[in-house]
Parts: sequence; structure tokens; C-alpha cells
Amino acid sequence: MAEPVSPLRLRFDGAALADNWHALDRMSGSAACGAAVKANGYGLGARDVTQRLIRAGCRDFFVATWAEATEIADLCEGRSLSVFHGVRREDMAIATAGVARPCLNSAEQVKRWREAAGGACDVMVDTGMNRLGLSVEQVGEGLLDGLRIDTLMSHLACADEPDNVLNDAQHAALASLAGQTGAVRMSLCNSAGIALGKKYHMDLTRPGISLYGGAQVSALAPHIRQVAFPEAQVIQRRLVGSGETVGYGSTFTAEQDTQVAILHLGYADGYLRSFSGRGGTNFGGAGCPVIGRVSMDLIAVSVDAAPEVREGDWLAIDYDLPKASAQSGLSQYELLTTLGRRYQRNWNE
Ligand SMILES: *Cc1c(COP(=O)(O)O)cnc(C)c1O
Repeated sequence: MAEPVSPLRLRFDGAALADNWHALDRMSGSAACGAAVKANGYGLGARDVTQRLIRAGCRDFFVATWAEATEIADLCEGRSLSVFHGVRREDMAIATAGVARPCLNSAEQVKRWREAAGGACDVMVDTGMNRLGLSVEQVGEGLLDGLRIDTLMSHLACADEPDNVLNDAQHAALASLAGQTGAVRMSLCNSAGIALGKKYHMDLTRPGISLYGGAQVSALAPHIRQVAFPEAQVIQRRLVGSGETVGYGSTFTAEQDTQVAILHLGYADGYLRSFSGRGGTNFGGAGCPVIGRVSMDLIAVSVDAAPEVREGDWLAIDYDLPKASAQSGLSQYELLTTLGRRYQRNWNE
């Protein structure tokens, strides 16, 4: 039987992914640069991303769950793989089988791991985010004594705000634990944290979003390239007459006769309704703005700037993450992790 051909493409630039890692590695100074590949590699495909980052030289990988660890464990053999969410009771069988290290977050997780004689682990310390992790006091009271700890880490709440005083306070809190736990390494920085400067880098950095083209702070932007490029096919061309409206809710009214293309892309593909009347697409560089509301499977764009567009042509969706985030109000993380399953996915290398 013939294979269906998708009207949606997601093109990935493997060289840009590798270059982004190299840039973050350089900016991490003497610290090793790892990679957060949780949530299916931020939506790009955990295995595709991990393979390429290993080729680039990355040796430290982070996921959120044991299912995610299992998916890339074979690729990470001989390298370091850590599970941010640690060990629930349900995780113990797989966690003690040794595919990855848990990052222990609570006294209960520490106790569970200790009783199972689980081996090497990482530990998360909460230094002000009040999300996951032990308190600095708990560590000071000897809760971790005798554990075999690879990486003692914490996570910055406001790394994307370079002037926020919490950054320095969180660094100081983690740094105060140096030499107190037998941890081989210490780690604090996500992508934006790397741009905060040398003191923050410690032994290991853990960027995610910037590997994939995100730049939340201006210091990163010049070094980071777009990795994911969505494209959608035109399934109908039409002329919308002056005074007519387009789409659900008739939110767009043509002020003059307008050339319109209907593209096979919608909120079911992760192109959320916040792009309604705001998103951009282009055909050979000519800008074709989204008009009216985004539907589940369709958008309408004005092709007045590219009247040669025909049914079957492909339009590039403007998806530079910082710009698309400003346009839509979605975070750069949401822009990637919500991309749906209908794309034909293609890595160029
Ligand atoms: C997701 C995550 C990271 C990576 O963060 P980015 O902002 O994507 O660079 C690093 N550390 C922890 C604990 C995380 O949960």
C-alpha cells in the first residue's frame, strides 16, 4: 500500500544543534557541558537529539522520567545519564537495574535509595525555587552521609533575569555545600544560567532550550541558531473580497480584495490559537501573515506579497523561537514541546 505523504514538515538542522552545543560548551568554560533531553528532546526526538549530541562530544544527559531514560539508555552507555525526578516506589526496579542515576529530591527518596543500596546517584538541593530538592539544612544535618553522589545540583528560578538577586543567593547556597557531601561534581546552570558568568558554571552545566534554538537572554542570542523549521502545504487558494471575513468568529475582515492561502497547520499541530492574527509564514522570503483564527488543522495566510503561491506549494512557518515567543505569548519551551505528531520529520544531518 502507498504511504500517506504528510502535508506538514518539520525540518531539523543537525549542524545547528551541534553548533549550539559547542557554543554552550565554550561558554561553560572549564565546566563540562551536558544536555537536558527530557520531554522527548524538547519535542525534537530524544534519540535523534542524543545521537547527534554524542557525536558533538556531549557526555552528560538529563531526562525527567525513567521511561525517558530507558528510551536513550543504550545510546548513553559509557556516558552519564541522570533522571531529574528521582525515585518513586514504582521506579525502584528499573532504577536499581542501573540504566541511569536517579537525582534524589526528598528525604524519602534518599531513604528509599539508601535502603536499596542503589549505588551512584545525583542529588538535587532546593536553594530557593521551592520545587524539587532537599534543603541546604537537610544536607548540613548529614542526610546524605555515606551516599555515593556523582553530581550535587540545584536549579535556578530566575536565570533568565540576569539582575535578579535570587541568582546570586541560589549560587551562594549551593556553593556553601562544597566539600560537605563527597559529591564528585556540582552543577547549577540551565541554558540562561550559563550566560550569568563563570562563577555559576561550577563543574557541569545542563542546558536544554538553547541547544534547540532558544535564547531567553540577549547574551545567548548571537551564539544560538534555529534548529526546528516547520513547513506547511497550501491546500487551497482563494480570493477574499473586500468586506468579507475569514475563519471562525469572523475575526478578520478584508479591507480590500485579499489573496489568501489555506495551509494545513493548526492547533492540533502545536500551532496554538495565540498565533491567531499574529503568526507569520513566508514563501521564498515574502512575508505571508496569519489572518483570522487558527483552527484545529488549518490556518489562513495573506499571500498578497507572494501572489504566485499555488495549491501544493510549501510555506515556511516563522519559528525563530525568541521572535515566535514574542509574537504568540507562548514560552520558547512551549513552542517546541507542543509540536504535534502529524509532521514528517527530517534531519538534514
Ligand atoms: C529542564 C531543566 C534544565 C534545562 O533547562 P533549560 O532552561 O531548558 O536550559 C536544567 N536543569 C533542570 C533541573 C531542569 O529541569
